[in-house]
Amino acid sequence: MEGLRTVTRGRKLDPTSERLIPELTPAVTPVNKVMTLEEALDRTAELAEKALSRGTFGVAGLLTGPGGMVYAEAMNMTQRKGKPYDPTGHVERQLIDWYFEAARAGAKLPPPGHMLILSSLDPCAMCSGSTIKAGFKTVAIDLDGGEAGIHDVHGLPHRMPRELWAVAESSIHLITSRSGRALLSRQFPESEAPGPKRLSGIIERCRNAFEHSYLQMLYGLEKNRNGAAGDLRTLLRDLHSELPDTLEIPPAEIHTVAGGNRRVIEGLLGDERVCLIDPHGRPLLIARGREELSPIRIAVIELVRSYSQFRSHVHDSHGIDMPGMKSLSVLMRDAPATPIDAFHQLGSMGTFVLEKGHEGGMPLLAYLNGDDGRIRRYAGALPPHYTRHEGFFAGTLPF
Ligand SMILES: [Zn+2]
Repeated sequence: MEGLRTVTRGRKLDPTSERLIPELTPAVTPVNKVMTLEEALDRTAELAEKALSRGTFGVAGLLTGPGGMVYAEAMNMTQRKGKPYDPTGHVERQLIDWYFEAARAGAKLPPPGHMLILSSLDPCAMCSGSTIKAGFKTVAIDLDGGEAGIHDVHGLPHRMPRELWAVAESSIHLITSRSGRALLSRQFPESEAPGPKRLSGIIERCRNAFEHSYLQMLYGLEKNRNGAAGDLRTLLRDLHSELPDTLEIPPAEIHTVAGGNRRVIEGLLGDERVCLIDPHGRPLLIARGREELSPIRIAVIELVRSYSQFRSHVHDSHGIDMPGMKSLSVLMRDAPATPIDAFHQLGSMGTFVLEKGHEGGMPLLAYLNGDDGRIRRYAGALPPHYTRHEGFFAGTLPF
């Protein structure tokens, strides 16, 4: 740590870059153009290919309203310039946050119930939870090989708590399903659906873009698995002036969240705040949700975005590797109370564990109060990407 102190003391920081605020919708572009369904599908496939060529996941989508109006387009941005950037930078999450930002800035947009996201890939649990919470609809062009998408082998959006099946069936569709086709022909009333041959060509392009990027990512991640742990608390304190405004450092007198500190911790975690902790239960950073700005900006998502981007910043500016999420946990005061909150939180945590195998020996999503059995059941209903990776579990703290 001595070396680091020297680095930060000697270094003159550009005041504008000191408090980096993570970008919410970095890969969204406003469009405002009426398209035919075929043009929209074509554009989605084209953007998925563009995302692949940028070294992130080859996934893209359009935000559409009634009459074939396309309001915005988005590409995946979990990686930027070949490096991990924002694990939550998925297409649907960005488009929904963009919608609420634009609406707040005065843009005239149809209500959420009329908005449909055309996505090149079956949405993950975070994005499905976001779609349901925000009241949007999503039609996915391709399945993802059954890993992280919410559609099961019968083509039903059932990889989630059973309580949500009905709402998911009305919100999230595959383009090859009758309900998906019906929804698209309502949203694009002036255009004919592309014929089967044309459609399978588009599905093929979306599939190739994703599969190629997935392989690229697996190889790339191998190189990124050596985040040094060190004394992270000291490191964060040394760098506190560079932390984004979205993150706070917990009081120094709380050494771990165990034992007599429990009441203090409960206080820290009020107002739906969450705390990043290391495997020994040492609190590292606190984040809070911004649900007043967008119903999907829950504290877990804000923490993932901020921590990941701060970690990249520390790497680039100081050459220090902070640990990745696979050795850390997120602590909240109360277990999620409703199936949709549980699904959305668990799904968002799932974006962390892309790096495979949580190693902390602690729940990835930990809480002080709540019913373990219920949360385990919810977690067990998630797509295989979440359940198969050992260590992805949620529950009360072991101490
Ligand atoms: Zn997603």
